[in-house]
Amino acid sequence: MATMNPSAGLATVQREIETACRDAGRDPAGVTLVAISKTFDAEAIAPVIGAGQRVFGENRVQEAKAKWPALMARQSGIALHLVGPLQSNKVRDAVALFDAIHSLDRDSLAAALAKEIARQSRRPTLFVEINTGAEPQKSGVKPQDADAFIAACRARHGLVIAGLMCIPPFDEAPAPHFALTGEIARRNGLALLSMGMSADFKIAIAFGSTHVRVGTAIFGARGTT
Ligand SMILES: *Cc1c(COP(=O)(O)O)cnc(C)c1O
Repeated sequence: MATMNPSAGLATVQREIETACRDAGRDPAGVTLVAISKTFDAEAIAPVIGAGQRVFGENRVQEAKAKWPALMARQSGIALHLVGPLQSNKVRDAVALFDAIHSLDRDSLAAALAKEIARQSRRPTLFVEINTGAEPQKSGVKPQDADAFIAACRARHGLVIAGLMCIPPFDEAPAPHFALTGEIARRNGLALLSMGMSADFKIAIAFGSTHVRVGTAIFGARGTT
């Protein structure tokens, strides 16, 4: 798996996204592929940039900071998304580097983001992460707390919330989790849905996903991290 050709993986995923959109009666332009390049080095990422991919996702601020500035210096127009948990002490770096943050899940982080957004005059697209499975070990806002949290982000912190993100429990059918996330987004007037990974992005597209986060199906299997 790790020796697979990432640009071939990219082409396959692009085709599958188009097919899933056609099956769902959706315009493929409404689905952004976020290529999740965590754990892969510049050498593995460069051919995917060469094949035309411009939106990438990472799950760690430090790792992204170490590898992306050089890649971005060689290719303009790259958008970087943070899809992993964000610690408050990394917010300054995150706002400086990322164009979107998918893991807003607590009041202290909302406050820290609001402060840095004002300080840096940068406005990353913000997704609130919903812990749809209410899994205790997982980050994200519980579904029953989502409306109040989104309202507080807006009213108390003045943040523009663009959408929601979810990671369904590993051992459950993802569809009900995607449906629930879609419902919460609709009733809060949120247009964007970050849903779907390598194993389930086609299902996520059927449930209205606008951002699919696909790593393994493009880059191959990761080491254990
Ligand atoms: C790693 C990761 C992905 C990509 O997962 P794959 O199964 O490799 O496609 C998507 N979303 C998040 C939050 C991740 O951490």
